[in-house]
Amino acid sequence: MSLHRIVIGTRNRKKGVEMAELLSPPWDSNPRLAGLIVATLADYPDAPEVDEDAATFAANARKKASETACAIGEWVLADDSGLAVDALGGDPGVFSARYAGKHGDDSANNAKLLAELEKIEDDKRTAAFVCSLALADPRGNVRAEARGECRGVIARAPRGENGFGYDPLFLIPEYHRTFGELSVIVKHMLSHRARAFSTIRPQIERLVARA
Ligand code: IMP
Repeated sequence: MSLHRIVIGTRNRKKGVEMAELLSPPWDSNPRLAGLIVATLADYPDAPEVDEDAATFAANARKKASETACAIGEWVLADDSGLAVDALGGDPGVFSARYAGKHGDDSANNAKLLAELEKIEDDKRTAAFVCSLALADPRGNVRAEARGECRGVIARAPRGENGFGYDPLFLIPEYHRTFGELSVIVKHMLSHRARAFSTIRPQIERLVARA
């Protein structure tokens, strides 16, 4: 089954843009992926919502990739990601997108996180962003996988307008800036998603080469 067209399997528009840029940066074109067409779920309005009910990021990524690929008959690259805060025993974890109740309500999620950490001292506010990626072929078989992590500290108030989700609260101590303040180029060098892509990209290049 040859890979010449890949669908980025998320309805989170900002996450989808990051995924497409990390797969094949438009400002630094990758000759090994030159023939690959990158599409989004916007082209597949009837694709089903996948229930993200697995216990791990990796299992949710596999489930999203596999179920979406079967439903639309295309290769699908899925991302399941989130924030694991040390002082909260790894929460919100796989519940990151719906931490405050409603799926994808970033400002409510951030407000809840700040409230949960209110009494936590600065040096105990450490956390990791985690990203699991999975690529499924049109029959739903998972053909490539990767995981990446990025460590940081949860700020005491949101800072910056860039990115999405918990980015305004995720402080990179070496830069004295949150992902909300750092440019997309810096986020693409440091992030959990960038690290996962650096592992999965060679696997995708090999599948494209075989096509
Ligand atoms: P998913 O779409 O179910 O994987 O949900 C991921 C959730 O984790 C998002 O809604 C965000 O709240 C959070 N998240 C994942 N990656 C990032 C990131 O790069 N920046 C900020 N928040 C993120």
